[in-house]
Parts: sequence; structure tokens; C-alpha cells
Amino acid sequence: MAQEEPAKSALHNKLVVRNIGLLLSGDLDNPILDADTVISVGDHITAVGKEKDLDTAGAAVTIDARGTALAPGLIDSHVHPVCGDWTPRQNQLGWIDSYLHGGVTTMVSAGEVHTPGRPKDVVGLKAMAIFAQRAFHAFRPGGVKIHAGAPVIEHGMVEDDFKELAAAGVKILGEVGLGSVKDGKTARQMVSWARKYGIQSTIHTGGPSIPGSSLIDKDMVLETDADIIGHVNGGHTALPDDQITALCERSTRALEIVHNGNERAALLALRTAMELKQLHRVILGTDSPAGSGVQPLGMVRMIALLSSLGEISAEVAICLATGNTAKMRNLDCGLIAPGREASFVLMDKAQHSAGRNLLDSIQKGDLPGIGMVIIDGAVSAHRSRNTPPATTAPEIVKP
Ligand SMILES: [Zn+2]
Repeated sequence: MAQEEPAKSALHNKLVVRNIGLLLSGDLDNPILDADTVISVGDHITAVGKEKDLDTAGAAVTIDARGTALAPGLIDSHVHPVCGDWTPRQNQLGWIDSYLHGGVTTMVSAGEVHTPGRPKDVVGLKAMAIFAQRAFHAFRPGGVKIHAGAPVIEHGMVEDDFKELAAAGVKILGEVGLGSVKDGKTARQMVSWARKYGIQSTIHTGGPSIPGSSLIDKDMVLETDADIIGHVNGGHTALPDDQITALCERSTRALEIVHNGNERAALLALRTAMELKQLHRVILGTDSPAGSGVQPLGMVRMIALLSSLGEISAEVAICLATGNTAKMRNLDCGLIAPGREASFVLMDKAQHSAGRNLLDSIQKGDLPGIGMVIIDGAVSAHRSRNTPPATTAPEIVKP
């Protein structure tokens, strides 16, 4: 009798998404799959293929995609959360839930730097990082996963601090350069201590974002050698063109392009990465909330910007916001493949777009209409309240 229980609960969690018209994998090497059905059990994908070849029986929930597109849930590689679903930067509530309606299922903190009264002493910054990691692990507005607890390095930190942070569950550093450490030598030392204990690092790139932050030029970025070159297109003020191309050419680290950066510099970084045949290094984020506000549609706007003006196809642009980021940041999501997290965004071309279909509409610069968002195998949002309406939206046919 005891043996039946796991099987029953697995069946209870089985999700079938069928009648998918376009399956976008998130994988740069193979962005479109020849498949029409995705099955998940619990929070992971168990099968991807043609419906006729798959076992769709016994699903707890079946979704008819009605010929629309399915892609991995979008990953915002650069957010600045504070606490709960509130940002003091623009004093706004519910911003994370709004991003869910922009197709975002995962966020990575680049530092909880907008926290009023943010502690800058070593004990205080460690405590805040551990608090943020715990709090956002437990609190998921709309189901969105927020990888937070990203301390900003300050002078006075020693190797044991990074060891202690890692042991406490901290996995990422906030943007290097937003604290008191402004020289490459010290930053490089701290980033390498972080790396030694499995903590990934990001560096601020370009001019100051807001009063109180400062310029980080290419020499400091190269010397620090953080894992992610944060907003290589500036946040918002970009470095001169020759410095951006130098970062693409002389580093092997991830090249993060953000919504709240310089759009012309974004296109330059993208073009340079393509010329170097290193598109796999390009990842996308919003760098929000920030001075320019909250952008629930920031990720889909980046996809439309880069594919309409940047000479990459829409399916490739979507990989930069999903599979590329997952690979660069060691996340379990971002790809449609068995064993990966069952987090999806279902999209169609927006009503009255001039595009022939979803991909053509994005390449023409229109935003996709989001019809449904699924996180960990459960429907988190139906037709988006924020995107232009999808021409066709999926529907739950069972239960
Ligand atoms: Zn920054």
C-alpha cells in the first residue's frame, strides 16, 4: 500500500501542455524544437515531443496551447529587490507580480542596494545578505523565483567572510563597485575568494547609476574578472565604444545587456559578441527597479529591441533571456528539456501586429502577447494583464 503513494502524488502533479504551435527551446544551438507537447511531473519536465508519441494519460491538468508558442520562462539576470514585493526606489508595491505578467519566472538579484539604511559594515552587510536570501527563498510573489541575498563588497572583508556567507547559503555577490571597493586589485581578491566558495560575482560597468555610485571603466572590469560583466551597455551611462568592444574581446565572462542601459551600446555589444562568435556569453536583464522605474515588460522589450534592430532572429533573442542566462548562472530553468524546471511562458503575436506570426512580429519590433505563465508545473498567470493581448490564448481543458 505504501508503494502506491508516490505514484499517486506524481500523477496528481502531472501537467500536459498540448497543441503547441511553436516550441522555443531556449537553447542557442537549437532554438526551435520539432515538438508540440510538453509534459511535466511536479516541478520538472519529464517529456518533450509529438503528442502521438507521448503518454499524456492521467494528467491532473491539461492545457490546450491552441497553436500558440511555448518558451522557457524568462530569466531577469539583473534586479534590485529589497524586501517583499515592494521597491522603495519608486515606492511601488507589487512589482514582482507585474513582471510575472511580462513572462518573467526567475530573477537574479544584483544586490539589495536600495534597502533604506543599507548596512555597510561587514557584520551588517552579511546579516542583510543572509536575511534577503532566506526571505526571498520563502516568499515568491505570483510564484516567481527570486535568487537574492547578494552582498555588495566593502573594504574590510576577509576570506573568512566569504566562507561564512557561502556556508549560510549565499550564492551571489551584488554588483562590485556599488560599495566602497573601487580598485581592481581589492575587487579581484574578493571576487576570487567568493569564487573559491562557490559565490558568483557581477560587476557594475560604466558611469554611475545614481548619485553615490561611481564610474567603473574597462580596466577595472578586466582586472576584477567577475563572472558576469554586469550591464556591459551601461546602467544607464555606457562606456566609450572602444571600451565595450575591448570587454567583449579581452574577457571570456558573461556579457549582460540590460533594459535600463544605453540601447545603442546594447546593439554594439551584441554585434561585437556575434562577430566574435560568442553569442552564448550574452545574457539579458532589466537592472530594475531603478531610477527609470519598474518595467514589467522589460524582458520582452529587450527581446523585441535586439531582434528588430540587432540582426538576430526572435528565437535567438529569446535564448539570450532564457538558456544563455541559465547556463551562465548555473540555474535549473531556461531550457525546454527533460529534467529542467517546468516553468514556461506561452505567447502569441499581439492582436493586430503587422507581423505574419509571433516570431515575425517580434522581429518587426512588436511585443509578444503573453497568454499564460506556468511556474514549477503550475499555472501562475492566465492572459497577461500587461502585454498587448495575444491573438490566441491557451486554455485549461482539464480539470
Ligand atoms: Zn549597476
